[in-house]
Amino acid sequence: RDSRFHFIEADVSDPVSGWNTGGKIFGGASKFDWVLHFASPASPPKYIQYPIETMRVNAEGTRHLLDFAREVGSKFFFASTSEIYGDPAVSPQPETYWGNVSSTGPRSVYDEAKRYGEAMVYGYHRTLGLDVRVIRIFNTYGPAMDPSDGRVVTNLMVQALQGRPLTVYGDGSQTRSFQYVSDLVEGIVRLMRTDYQQPVNLGNPTEFTILEFARVVQRIVGSALPIVFEPLPQDDPRQRKPDISVARRILGWEPRVALEDGLGMTLGSLQ
Ligand code: UDP
Repeated sequence: RDSRFHFIEADVSDPVSGWNTGGKIFGGASKFDWVLHFASPASPPKYIQYPIETMRVNAEGTRHLLDFAREVGSKFFFASTSEIYGDPAVSPQPETYWGNVSSTGPRSVYDEAKRYGEAMVYGYHRTLGLDVRVIRIFNTYGPAMDPSDGRVVTNLMVQALQGRPLTVYGDGSQTRSFQYVSDLVEGIVRLMRTDYQQPVNLGNPTEFTILEFARVVQRIVGSALPIVFEPLPQDDPRQRKPDISVARRILGWEPRVALEDGLGMTLGSLQ
């Protein structure tokens, strides 16, 4: 264990002033380079199960961490989401697209909370000059995901490993674009090295229908398990594909890991 690493378990939805004891924060440091806010459920079944907590962590949590960043003189990094585009009417989605989002539907607790979080980050940036970075993360997967996470990657991989039918919601014609976690991390690190303060999409632009995705899972696991069709959740976005021209231009970044390779590397951790 590295003595420079301090893990403190705390809820950022509550005020964070207790973290700063007498000018000494986290084992003696009183200044920070970065505050990175990644706290939030991201899986639809999870944020629908915890609606209030999801709204609080992206609203009050974001405000607490913005204030904390000012207090310790750091830059602020906000993990936003492709969900701010809602059920997009344009494809692929560039950062300039304002989105098509329900303010009352089941997904609104996440979508609107992240939109509010972004608005607050840019409020602090404009009025207080805070140095900010914002990424919009598209569907991301990789080893060490919670097998009961509830999203399509873990659901179908676990089902395939257990020899159960693969659950496809709706007719499977809706699309998603799946990014392997190491590509996301590379994009994050590159953005931290720039001074670009506008939102940046980070995602893999290779788009699959969910039915195509189920077939890829069948291939990876090596068994032609039956596919069962289940009802499409309310407000499930029809399509999602990032326009990554900004990331290409500003970060010289693009995803490197293809879906089949990434799923292969994820498989072991779910067995
Ligand atoms: N989905 C599916 N089977 C599952 C879980 C999800 O067909 O067991 C579908 C879901 O309806 C959506 C897509 O897969 O159209 C991606 O869902 P996920 O929950 O992974 O993330 P989202 O992109 O909706 O946030």
